[in-house]
Amino acid sequence: MPIEAESLKYCCKCSKDVTHIGRMKDSDGRYWCIDCGAKDEEKKRVHAGAVCKGCGESFSKPQLTWIGGLPYCDPCVKKKFAVKKSFFGKIWAGLTGE
Ligand SMILES: [Zn+2]
Ligand SMILES: [Zn+2]
Repeated sequence: MPIEAESLKYCCKCSKDVTHIGRMKDSDGRYWCIDCGAKDEEKKRVHAGAVCKGCGESFSKPQLTWIGGLPYCDPCVKKKFAVKKSFFGKIWAGLTGE
């Protein structure tokens, strides 16, 4: 019967019956067994982005480069290195008298 079916809960990943065991529910109303939920959290954490320290925009992990433990987006990395280059260029010019 519909009522019976509705009361059964299955993990949306591995289809394990989680009706009577520990489970999680995501924002879409899907159920997760603890194992799959934990794995998903781990995945989310790995793929979670960060806010670029240079421009304050948020980016996904593959778009970020970590410099000194801080995340920077591509344009900011380029900017940073460009600044560094010209900075060292000036020192170099000062040292060599060019
Ligand atoms: Zn599962
Ligand atoms: Zn940036």
